[in-house]
Amino acid sequence: MKTIFLQKELQDRTSLGIYRTLKTVDSPQGREITLEGKRVLNFSSNDYLGLANDARIKKAALEMIEEFGLGSGASRLICGNMGPHERLEEDLALLKKTECALLFSSGYMANTGIIQALMDRHCTVLSDKLNHASIIDGIILSRAKLLRYPHGDMPTLQKLLMGLGLAERKLIVTDSVFSMDGDKAPLKEIVELAARYEAMVMVDEAHAFGVLGASGGGLVEELGLGAQVDIQMGTLSKAAGCFGAYACGTKVLREYLINKSRSFIYTTAMPPALAQAARVALKIIVEGNQLRRNLQENARYLRTKLQVIGFNTMNSSTPIIPVLVKDPLAAVDMSKRLLQQGIFVQAIRPPTVPMGTARLRLTVTATHTKDDLDQLLNALRKL
Ligand code: PLP
Repeated sequence: MKTIFLQKELQDRTSLGIYRTLKTVDSPQGREITLEGKRVLNFSSNDYLGLANDARIKKAALEMIEEFGLGSGASRLICGNMGPHERLEEDLALLKKTECALLFSSGYMANTGIIQALMDRHCTVLSDKLNHASIIDGIILSRAKLLRYPHGDMPTLQKLLMGLGLAERKLIVTDSVFSMDGDKAPLKEIVELAARYEAMVMVDEAHAFGVLGASGGGLVEELGLGAQVDIQMGTLSKAAGCFGAYACGTKVLREYLINKSRSFIYTTAMPPALAQAARVALKIIVEGNQLRRNLQENARYLRTKLQVIGFNTMNSSTPIIPVLVKDPLAAVDMSKRLLQQGIFVQAIRPPTVPMGTARLRLTVTATHTKDDLDQLLNALRKL
């Protein structure tokens, strides 16, 4: 009886069309996967460069398992700090052109841990309304005052900044590529405002790392803003095809996070084989201009064709391409009908996106062929 509310809440979710279920993949990630026992074309993963099943990366992981074993045994501060972690951090700092990097076990943990460490109840965080849930959770954990500005709305951000004292500790935090909309943050304007009002800037490059910038460093690299961004956060779980995350910045930032970030301190270190695998992924990313060109070309092709058919792809300018449906039940129905045609596209519904903006979220990768994209377009035309 004590738990009767669980069933009731789940029933409510079903009638609103927002009930979530798990689907099982029984194959490596790729442009084609085995989903619930059926081969389907995959337009749902964040494996933008097709590295999740890359032979070179798998080999590096296997060799490191032979050499260092599987588990890291303890947190970094106890006895889990192993050579591959530090070498990966050096590689990341080199790629990002920052003094230092610090690894986290996931992007979720990086965002919660960085914001919790830097902010407290006397500070203010200014956050784009569409920032990832892990950023919001980090702000809640920090107990800082939260000021949310409408998506990409710089005049409102400026107004909010004007209402704060210059000496107050404040942080502007933004996704660089928004995970459900596929558009880019106005980073140039953000760093200008931050300089004028003496705010720190943190950028979450989860969907830009490996995808944007001449060496895959993300939107910060693409716009040449490295010197103006205090914390460049990103994950190794998407374009890098691995797992884990990083915070890049100054040596002081690294030391501060090691001392104060709870999701860094109180968790077992990433397995060393994963760190070694990520080092190989980084090398592929840096040398991956052709992969990035294929990716952008696939994204451009798909987005243009979708718009010609008449779909609303919102303001996407990246490989994340939403198709706005609005009604969650309709979005789920479209996703089901695509699956019947052998195509896997996830429906994204509230609370992941705002009410009234349910959508199909298409993600293209560098490995999709033109034929794959045409199959998807034909299937969508039939809906
Ligand atoms: N930040 C953004 C913008 C994301 O989309 C995600 C994705 O899940 C994360 C952070 C969390 O990263 P991870 O999956 O590595 O925990």
